[in-house]
Amino acid sequence: MAQGTLFIVSAPSGAGKTSLVRELIESLDGIQVSVSHSTRARRDGEVDGVNYHFVDVPSFEAMVEQGDFFEYARVFDNYYGTSRSAVQAMLAAGQDVILEIDWQGARQVRAQLPEAVSVFILPPSREELERRLSGRGTDEHAVIARRMRDAVDEMTHHDEYDYLVINDDFTTALRELQSLVIARRLTLERVREHHAPLLAALLA
Ligand code: 5GP
Repeated sequence: MAQGTLFIVSAPSGAGKTSLVRELIESLDGIQVSVSHSTRARRDGEVDGVNYHFVDVPSFEAMVEQGDFFEYARVFDNYYGTSRSAVQAMLAAGQDVILEIDWQGARQVRAQLPEAVSVFILPPSREELERRLSGRGTDEHAVIARRMRDAVDEMTHHDEYDYLVINDDFTTALRELQSLVIARRLTLERVREHHAPLLAALLA
């Protein structure tokens, strides 16, 4: 079975990454998102095993010791990591896989798998990002300023990625992400792997 492609998707908080990735995997066959492990507290509406595998710090550290993570990082005040075996199993089954991870994780993945395709999602303007990070307008100025600083920190790494998608209009950004996945499936290497009998028959 031909291997799937690994996609890395990073973005600052407020760029709309999670919604775009959710729509992307619903709109295309043969692509899945990897469910990360995290030590952060579960938010309202999040489901263990769906949004994250929520684990405590000792369990996370034990997984690090055992080499269970393909990549992991401390992001803000929590640990996040991608299970090596889960990702390998999906890729080996021919599925394309998306890792929704930060720039630190992206670097670790590139170092191990240079053919991974990386995409950075940007908000359409600083004002819009600030608006999106302000929540319902009830958050304190200092909290919003902190979120902006974190977002800018993440965005300084945009130039380490293969592709940039600006999420101004959601439908346009989604189409751009779909195009990247589809274009990847049409590369010479992938088509040769997936359609070896057809090519053999055509060239006979
Ligand atoms: P949140 O806590 O808001 O869900 O995610 C915070 C940040 O952690 C986001 O930038 C997200 O991309 C990143 N993140 C989520 N899962 C992983 C992971 O498995 N590895 C790394 N390196 N970052 C992750």
